[in-house]
Amino acid sequence: MNDGVRLRKTLDGVPAYKPGKPAAPVEGLTAYKISSNENPYPPLPSVLDVVAEAAGTMNRYPDMAVTRLTAALAERWDVPTTHVATGTGSVGVLTHLVTITCEPGDEVVYAWRSFEAYPIVVALAGAVSVQVPVTDTAEHDLRAMAAAVTDRTRLILVCTPNNPTGPHVSDAALREFLDAVPRDVLVVIDEAYLEFNTAADAADALGIYRDFPNVVVLRTFSKAYGLAGLRVGYAIAHEDVATALRKAATPFGVSDLAESAAVASLGVFDELEVRVKALVDERGRVLAGLREQGWPVPDTQANFVWMPLGEDTLDFAAACQERGLTVRPFPGEGARCTIGETEANDRLLEVAAAFRDR
Ligand SMILES: *Cc1c(COP(=O)(O)O)cnc(C)c1O
Repeated sequence: MNDGVRLRKTLDGVPAYKPGKPAAPVEGLTAYKISSNENPYPPLPSVLDVVAEAAGTMNRYPDMAVTRLTAALAERWDVPTTHVATGTGSVGVLTHLVTITCEPGDEVVYAWRSFEAYPIVVALAGAVSVQVPVTDTAEHDLRAMAAAVTDRTRLILVCTPNNPTGPHVSDAALREFLDAVPRDVLVVIDEAYLEFNTAADAADALGIYRDFPNVVVLRTFSKAYGLAGLRVGYAIAHEDVATALRKAATPFGVSDLAESAAVASLGVFDELEVRVKALVDERGRVLAGLREQGWPVPDTQANFVWMPLGEDTLDFAAACQERGLTVRPFPGEGARCTIGETEANDRLLEVAAAFRDR
């Protein structure tokens, strides 16, 4: 009898990633997918042109060293090129961060609830997740996270602003936390939503990386830059870490299309920033609207709002779906709703009001 091939036991502990579903069609309504924190704006024409040109050489492998993007990032952030490592989305880089730090059984500390990918990449490496609950206000409990560090801790993930709950970590709080963490433990500041963060006390992650040799800053082109479909992200890290990341990198993981689009996007960030500002304005409108309706929505510095619906979460997601809106439910906890097109945001407010009055 064949019971199948022998796969690693570790896989039993790996949660399967639940992708955001495409919006289901509802007659007479435009469907909106507000479940994956994507940028609702289409690519800028200038970026599309560059990608179209790059498509003409797709029979060739990309540049394995990702030279152009590495140089552009080093210039943009005023860091040496040796401090830059790129990857297939920042989740790709995150996977490599676990690879370069964790032997099986080593511990990775992070807040929970936070980014869905964290438990998956940690478990795949055979490492152990140490999840520290967020506070009542859905913020990182940095004191508890520092207290959770043991001899086995190799990596700490700080997600600011936090996906899916929204709040950010302040600069002062992050520095105080880092003072309490052993210098041989690598601390990742995951800034996927950096560009949406308008808090006056927002962490200056690059300043912190300059002051702490054990800090790495993780960023992506998927959200504010609107390149989620092209899969490109990067880390800014000190040379030992960045060199290790490049060793661990999936060969040719950043396509020529992705690299070209990312370089072009860095060059036109002022145009993208107009869109980011519009989304931030819409975020303010949605947050205020939901709170006026009585929903206890935590602060958000990202491109989404968190609705702490508890046991009502799946019913709310179904009510959204009936109105052509796909949100991201976390059963028993809440729903994450991306700030999208104005009409999608209006409809979210309508559904939330009707759900409250049901
Ligand atoms: C969206 C997101 C990312 C980015 O993922 P990519 O692989 O770059 O698309 C990283 N971290 C968090 C917390 C996110 O929400």
